[in-house]
Amino acid sequence: MKVLLLGGTGEARELADLLLSMGVEVVSSLAGRTSEALQPAGQVRSGGFGGAEGLSAWLSEHPVDAVVDATHPFAATITANAVTATRAAGVPHLILRRPGWTPEPGDVWHWTDTAGAAAAVLPTLGNRVFLTIGRQGLQVFATTGLWTLARCVEPPEPRPTWCELLFDRGPYDVAGELSVLREHRIDVLVTKDSGGPQTSAKLVAARQLGVPVVLIRRPPLPDGAEAVNSVDRVVEWVKARR
Ligand code: NAP
Repeated sequence: MKVLLLGGTGEARELADLLLSMGVEVVSSLAGRTSEALQPAGQVRSGGFGGAEGLSAWLSEHPVDAVVDATHPFAATITANAVTATRAAGVPHLILRRPGWTPEPGDVWHWTDTAGAAAAVLPTLGNRVFLTIGRQGLQVFATTGLWTLARCVEPPEPRPTWCELLFDRGPYDVAGELSVLREHRIDVLVTKDSGGPQTSAKLVAARQLGVPVVLIRRPPLPDGAEAVNSVDRVVEWVKARR
């Protein structure tokens, strides 16, 4: 059995290991935008396919028995394209969507639908902002006029001049997140609802310091797409197709 695994996440790398250990042939696909991306085991291809049509063409040139989309919950374009392309090609398709975060006692969370809405609410919540949304989509926060620290793996292009940048890559721990919040006197945190344990320590740190958090909701899954919420469920799905 051969699987195309759309990746760029920790779960995708874990799945590549698990599927390979079951004797499944895996081709992992990465967007190819991070210069030192962590490499999954097995075959790897890198770079966009060229939209849904490009992915359809790739699937006819490289036949696979299934496509598993283990991309990040906010990678909505590739997820939509994979639904369209696999439907057109008649290839079984599954999305791995890790659960979102849920608040705990002591959390002060403000949910917004978009980054723009998050930027709009910030001046009512604080003066020193910690943006943990990656390097894409930062510009919308330039208009807040608030002191801002933006954390990303690599420098955004073009490099913003209106905010401080902090280069780092998860996983993060609570002690480290507490020291970032304290050192920069952060009084409001912005995050996407990425879910998962790798980047959740900031939420614990914010809770401990009483710092409010603005969470950007996930884009919805494409209509009718089959999705599971754990690596184990993906493995079961693949086993059922062998
Ligand atoms: P996106 O907006 O959904 O995708 C933009 C374009 O990038 C797609 O149309 C596709 O180009 C290409 N692409 C994305 N993922 C790809 C993959 N796994 N293999 C081949 N091409 C891919 O995605 P994004 O939000 O920019 O994220 C890019 C990658 O980073 C994803 O693989 C995702 O898992 C990972 N990531 C994203 C985030 C996040 O917050 N968005 C966080 C951590 C990791 P074509 O149309 O040319 O095929």
